[in-house]
Amino acid sequence: MTTFFGAIADDLTGATDLAGLLARSGVRVSLRMGVPNESPTDTAALEIIALKCRNAPTEEAVNQTLTALDWLRRAGAERFFWKYCSTFDSTPRGNIGPVAEALMRALGTTQTIYCPAFPENGRAIFMGNLFVGEQPLSESSMKDHPLTPMRDSNLMRLLEPQVTAAVGLANRLVVATGPEALRARLAQLHAEGVAHVVIDAVANDDLRTIGLACHDMTLLTGGSAVAMPLPQIWLDKGVLTRNEERERRRAEHGMAIVLSGSCSAMTNRQVSAYLASGRPGFRLDPLRIAQNGSDEVLDWLSKQAPDAAPIVYATAEPSAVRAAQETLGVDRASLLVERTLATCAVKARELGARRYVVAGGETSGAVAKALSITKLDVGIEIAPGVPWCFARTGGHDVAVALKSGNFGSEAFFSHALEVLDK
Ligand code: ADP
Repeated sequence: MTTFFGAIADDLTGATDLAGLLARSGVRVSLRMGVPNESPTDTAALEIIALKCRNAPTEEAVNQTLTALDWLRRAGAERFFWKYCSTFDSTPRGNIGPVAEALMRALGTTQTIYCPAFPENGRAIFMGNLFVGEQPLSESSMKDHPLTPMRDSNLMRLLEPQVTAAVGLANRLVVATGPEALRARLAQLHAEGVAHVVIDAVANDDLRTIGLACHDMTLLTGGSAVAMPLPQIWLDKGVLTRNEERERRRAEHGMAIVLSGSCSAMTNRQVSAYLASGRPGFRLDPLRIAQNGSDEVLDWLSKQAPDAAPIVYATAEPSAVRAAQETLGVDRASLLVERTLATCAVKARELGARRYVVAGGETSGAVAKALSITKLDVGIEIAPGVPWCFARTGGHDVAVALKSGNFGSEAFFSHALEVLDK
């Protein structure tokens, strides 16, 4: 099938998050891990390419996205989406703004929108300020993120140093008035030379209004949720058909494993809850790995019973993360953790693991890469923005759930495994 919608996500769990929401429409969604080496084949109407460029040097992130754009255009895509985190994870250098501007140039478009709102997960934007639940972004736990600490809540202020053209706002009062009013506001901003428009949204209805106003823009940018209404809008307008049933897939029976490298507040609670439910766990300490390598955890893994569903986690409180980073440096601490969790994933596959639950965007990227997974077919959602996906690795069918740090409720890990057993 020819692709209509081509999305590029800055990390893997962002891509699976988007995939799960798009798949609610019943239209087939396919997710590629990185830009495929081969020309587009077996493409779906909705294609997503997952990159690992959220924290990459800006030039590299831009090059990666332009290569992804080229592949999606060859697949036939006519509408494009740049997906980043619903907490706008970035630094003054980028990479949200520079990538958006590079995509705009390549597509020859002069205006795009920025809407990281995700109401079902408590991300709302009002008067250009991003909220996580009831807290402004800069007062939320995102202020302590290991790689992209968010210390401002105002999206225009966050975006301005990242782009060369003007930034503006279409606020909630406009969005609440409806799609026509929003289109008029976008046109007005365009006439004023505003290329980058932050759009407020506090509820799913706002996202539908934004979709109705913006579905024919060549490039949209945002969190996953702003793209959610688009397939249905395109189905209603007849530019998409629901002619491809999603495949119903089941995972092979086999060992389950949870790998957690996210240090988000929610993941900390999820790890505690999983351990409290009696599951065996191994805590990775980057300082210890730096000294002793990964043999210790690999030995521990091979001693686990096949039905134990163990967890290996580096998840830690902000103070412990800071301590490790001060000794090892941010990059080295991250790399040691990501490498070790990736090695555990491969070892677990040897031991018979066929169901993987992974927490953390960067962590998921490292794990999927180590398992040489190139394509994911998107299945049922476990929680908003976290679907089970099915893939091939090392000659086996596996099910993988890749969770971005803050997503899911406290019982997420147990719940994910229960959903799959049903
Ligand atoms: P999230 O989705 O919550 O952002 P990520 O996996 O993307 O999670 O990012 C978390 C980063 O923190 C990863 O690079 C991971 O390797 C690193 N990390 C995990 N545990 C620790 C730790 N105990 N000390 C230092 N860094 C850590």
